[in-house]
Amino acid sequence: MEVAVEETETNKLINPIIKGKLKPYVRKIDTEAYYAEEFLKDLGKSGLLESNDFNNSEVLEREMLIAEETSKTCMTTGFNLWCHLASLTYLRNCDNDYLKRELLPSLEKGDFLGGTGLSNPMKYFANLEPLHLKAERTKGGYTISGNLPSVSNLKHDHWFGVIALNQDKEIMAFVPCDANGLTLKEKANYIGVNGSATYACKFDNVFIPDDWIISFEAKTFVENVRSTFVLYQIPLGLGVIAASVQSMKKAPNKQDGVNKFLSIQPEEIEQEYLQLKQRVTSILERNELKADWEEILQLRLDVDKLTIKAVHGDMLHYGGAAYLQKSNPSRRLREAYFLLNLTPTEKHLEKLLS
Ligand SMILES: Cc1cc2nc3c(=O)[nH]c(=O)nc-3n(C[C@H](O)[C@H](O)[C@H](O)COP(=O)(O)OP(=O)(O)OC[C@H]3O[C@@H](n4cnc5c(N)ncnc54)[C@H](O)[C@@H]3O)c2cc1C
Repeated sequence: MEVAVEETETNKLINPIIKGKLKPYVRKIDTEAYYAEEFLKDLGKSGLLESNDFNNSEVLEREMLIAEETSKTCMTTGFNLWCHLASLTYLRNCDNDYLKRELLPSLEKGDFLGGTGLSNPMKYFANLEPLHLKAERTKGGYTISGNLPSVSNLKHDHWFGVIALNQDKEIMAFVPCDANGLTLKEKANYIGVNGSATYACKFDNVFIPDDWIISFEAKTFVENVRSTFVLYQIPLGLGVIAASVQSMKKAPNKQDGVNKFLSIQPEEIEQEYLQLKQRVTSILERNELKADWEEILQLRLDVDKLTIKAVHGDMLHYGGAAYLQKSNPSRRLREAYFLLNLTPTEKHLEKLLS
């Protein structure tokens, strides 16, 4: 009962923002690498991302719903929102007074936006690759050098989380895009999600004062926040699945209803979608995110698999019209493959669960 009331109130606030600031731009986001920054900032302005008066599960439930509603319309922007939510997670869970007091309130209000450069560290902690950033201790902080091939949701006044190796210890920092010695190079030649404001980031002795340190014990910190980091990815898939189900149901009933012979039917996908939603609800109700790590990984993998099945089904139900470059089913198909290649990627998930 409570869940339904909360959903309705959140929906009441978010629906007009999606209608006014996201829906009109979806094609531009997909075809012209347009970054829906104003939409993301408006979410913050509306108070929907504030966490002060809520417990952990309530914040997660509300923000996952916002990410799903966003991804129903545009998964690229849902992904941008995930980047921002990941950065909020870092500041909400850190012990640094400066970051919590001076930056977190503005980040929640959307005065500026956040990103996360944690793909490489997530792979490093899973023994898949070395850490790309190195840190050296200096007076009052660290200097960081190295390259991150892709970090999204960036702009000159945004900040993002990174992890660097200092001797044999990993430290985590929150870095402004306009820091001295940091160079950003835009990347927008992907088959989808080009409106994600993605940049290659080159760190050349970037000075990080201690005020910007999220954690001096990044390994432990990541173990504490990684469940939330992955949980926030789940609504990206759920939104795409829901949109694909709606699309299949609305597909033109041509050729004497021949779509009914297809092996993928929207009602079946919808049932599986509801089961996944139920699993999310159970995890949030239990509120034991750290202990539920493997269950969350399995859920993420199952969401990815259903997402691909749903977008594939939508392509088949829509037929030739779906194959047009600017069709919604083809946009969702291209976006969905990004979800499978977002850390933890499908191969990374399979390894962690093996
Ligand atoms: C559009 C887009 C946006 C992304 N946004 C983010 C983000 O916001 N934050 C984030 O942390 N990650 C981001 N990534 C990375 C993503 O999460 C995955 O790590 C990546 O898509 C694929 O991982 P993989 O394991 O298949 O690595 P592969 O692509 O097989 O690469 C293996 C490793 O090689 C390195 N590598 C890959 N390409 C380059 C390159 N051009 N130059 C130097 N090294 C390279 C990387 O360390 C990479 O992890 C983004 C990727 C894409 C395509």
